[in-house]
Amino acid sequence: MHAALSTLPTDHPVAAVAQRLCEDTSHTVQLGTVACGDCWEQAIRTDQQVVLEFELPADHDADPLSYDGLGATESSRVA
Ligand SMILES: [Zn+2]
Repeated sequence: MHAALSTLPTDHPVAAVAQRLCEDTSHTVQLGTVACGDCWEQAIRTDQQVVLEFELPADHDADPLSYDGLGATESSRVA
């Protein structure tokens, strides 16, 4: 675990997840941070696993065409 993880900004995409993890486990959080480093690490790893599992584009600003392709594949599989 990197010590710097505990100082990530509150507007980080997984900040809310990390904060909830930390609250649920009653960890002590440094003043001005949203979660401890362990919870940040777990939240980021979970986020990355979801991206890989569902083959999502890593970047939210990725080419929207790849979203369309994925959606077409999924709906044709269902139909
Ligand atoms: Zn924690």
